[in-house]
Amino acid sequence: MIILVINCGSSSIKYQLLDMKSDDVYDMLAKGIVEKIGLPEGQLKHRPTGKEQYVVSQPIPDHKVGMKLVLDALVDPVHGVLHSFDDIEAVGHRIVQGADFFSGSTLVDEDVIKKIEICCDFAPLHNPAHLLGIHAISHVLPDVPQVVTFDTAFHQTMEPYAYMYALPYEYYTKYRVRRYGAHGTSHQYVSRKAAALAGIDIENSRIITCHLGNGSSITAIRNGKSIDTSMGFTPLEGMIMGTRCGNIDANIVPYIMKKENLTPDEMTEVLNNKSGFLGLSGKSSDMRDLSRLASEGDQRARTVLKKLCFDTVKNIGAYVAEMNGVDLIVFTAGIGENNPDLLQRICANFGYLGVRLDGHAKANAAGEILMSAADSAVKVAMVPTNEELVIARDTMHIVSEL
Ligand code: ADP
Repeated sequence: MIILVINCGSSSIKYQLLDMKSDDVYDMLAKGIVEKIGLPEGQLKHRPTGKEQYVVSQPIPDHKVGMKLVLDALVDPVHGVLHSFDDIEAVGHRIVQGADFFSGSTLVDEDVIKKIEICCDFAPLHNPAHLLGIHAISHVLPDVPQVVTFDTAFHQTMEPYAYMYALPYEYYTKYRVRRYGAHGTSHQYVSRKAAALAGIDIENSRIITCHLGNGSSITAIRNGKSIDTSMGFTPLEGMIMGTRCGNIDANIVPYIMKKENLTPDEMTEVLNNKSGFLGLSGKSSDMRDLSRLASEGDQRARTVLKKLCFDTVKNIGAYVAEMNGVDLIVFTAGIGENNPDLLQRICANFGYLGVRLDGHAKANAAGEILMSAADSAVKVAMVPTNEELVIARDTMHIVSEL
């Protein structure tokens, strides 16, 4: 089944075209990104498998135009990989917020769209863009079934004591204020992959997954189900991230708003886009820049790297306690997949649990590494995440049953 997987951001569209033969057997036909939608210099970067990258630079006023550019590239006689739009059998979308409406992927209909609209309040940067993507596809490919996969769905198994904030209860009943988590698709995918790699039965396991990227979250997974995760009502809660502050004393928010005379929107911008690695270092939100700066002696960059390590250790430690132990710790995403030294430093704090790393561990053909030594009491793995594959699988299953 040929499936177009779409991840719409406010000014971007990331896509992958996959030919799914089964859950684990598939061909990647093309991938790419449309960037700077709504800005004067829009761009499509299209990477068809086995062919050269194709770049189109032109103003892209909205998501409909962006989506049309993607589809035109997919059927282009030179750069394309399909004969016609009719070859696309289904479209799967990544949706950041599904609140407590959705505990799994689902086919798009009017009711689903209404619920995603309600969730815009909890993910104002993401959900409106996802809706633009759904509408753009309905416009260009009106007869193709669309499926949505939610970042929050995997965390719907959390118990009320884990997802409730100790705020007046009416904020939950009136405004749905509770913890929803995020990156669920990634946590679910890497936990299953790593369990298979480590020879652990997922149905009888305690796993901690660390998704460390631009946004970072850590999840406690008991017997395959999320029981706690570091992100909350929005993806701001938890650990230090590229531009997000993670946990802070909530009283800081009104204090700074008064001191700096900031509106709620301006304060939201500070917390989400001007904090984290960027805010603390004053230089960059990118791990690669910070590693370089730290090696050149920049003290604030060093503090950022230490805080990233510290926050990760703190969350893992908390989840070990919650699950009364751990069988497997998994690292993934941009930082988790590319910084072996950092992972070693994090794991050094868990010597007391019997964590021992194998200094010579090698990646398998899928790029996964079982990092723990044979005599380690806890397995440790690095698994590249693949949210698009999960979306394509779910889409395939749901559309096959129509
Ligand atoms: P996003 O949340 O945008 O998907 P990613 O998972 O791509 O983010 O993670 C981005 C982070 O990963 C950045 O801080 C980046 O510096 C870091 N990163 C990506 N590749 C590497 C690499 N090869 N070496 C070190 N850090 C990397």
